[in-house]
Amino acid sequence: MAYKTVRINLTLTQSLRQSVLVIYTGGTFGMVYEPQTGQLVPFDFDQVVDRLPELKRLTFDITLLTLPNIIDSSNMKPAIWVELAQIIQDNYRQYDSFVILHGTDTMAYTASALSFILVGLNKPVILTGAQLPIGVARSDARENFITALEIAAAVDTAAVDSAALDAAAVEEGFRPIVPEVCVYFNSLLLRGNRSTKRESVQFNAFASENYPHLATAGVSIDYNRPFIRPWQPDQPLTLRTVLDPNVTILKLFPGITQPVVESIVNIPNLRGIVLETFGAGNAPTDEWFLDTLKRAIDRGVSVFNVSQCEGGRVTQGHYQTSQQLLQIGVVSGADITTEAAITKLMVLLGQERDPARLRTLLAQPLCGEMND
Ligand code: ASP
Repeated sequence: MAYKTVRINLTLTQSLRQSVLVIYTGGTFGMVYEPQTGQLVPFDFDQVVDRLPELKRLTFDITLLTLPNIIDSSNMKPAIWVELAQIIQDNYRQYDSFVILHGTDTMAYTASALSFILVGLNKPVILTGAQLPIGVARSDARENFITALEIAAAVDTAAVDSAALDAAAVEEGFRPIVPEVCVYFNSLLLRGNRSTKRESVQFNAFASENYPHLATAGVSIDYNRPFIRPWQPDQPLTLRTVLDPNVTILKLFPGITQPVVESIVNIPNLRGIVLETFGAGNAPTDEWFLDTLKRAIDRGVSVFNVSQCEGGRVTQGHYQTSQQLLQIGVVSGADITTEAAITKLMVLLGQERDPARLRTLLAQPLCGEMND
């Protein structure tokens, strides 16, 4: 598909500067007040330099690509994740890094999905957005966008100094500091598949309870290098483009009834369930509950145990209330988020038909989404 693109910063003359492809998908970020009605409407993103003239001061090339259909991220779909991944793959040689402007509501799902789809990713893919539209005076859009661009374009100065000796670094365009899928928001850089939206009103919308922040942006941007995935120049980028939508999330609550559990577990064609359990992975020990789950597992449905707690981890077998889950073949999601768990299920179910192999893959980290 041919996408509409606009280049900015064409007047700069420095050689060897970084190039960033910005993909605009929609969300609150790009809203402005319409003078006649006073309502918030999406603005023509090609005019972003008029709204953010400071973009012109950045010392790298920026190209803006707008998706044909701008969406509120509540309308995000797996097909758009694959489209985003394909845009990144098609432009992988031409650009050093990627920034995705996205609604905050499902940003953590998209970041998680992309981390599983983009196999062998070796360049920054930074998602950001805003809690207040760019057309509002107090908007957080400006800081989030500019800093996300700075992070996307950040290269390891040691690699720049030794660039002449490092053919791979030259070939790739210097070593990026953060060669992975991340969410940048309100001064924090988070690993994408560890992030969750935790706040809908304050600016600190995202958290990563089970993994340290990858960077903190204050007067300077301080990178937490030991926790950032290392640069691996030898890997080619390939995509996992088949995602199976036959998955669901079953959140437990005290008093959940047999008809509720059965109606979910017996959804036609269902292949995977993220089971949101209590505390360290605990669930009711009622016979009907365990039998219903066991019947599903026996007919090939994968059940992935994720805690309802934001922090901590599932430890199946620690309590008696999780021991039986282990025995019937529920897979522990350890310290994974629900967003990463459901997208990991979709992606792996799209690749793998054998339930035993699938269980093995689910239980092991694919790209830093969990500590097993
Ligand atoms: N509903 C919006 C979205 O996710 C919220 C936002 O962008 O912050 O697209």
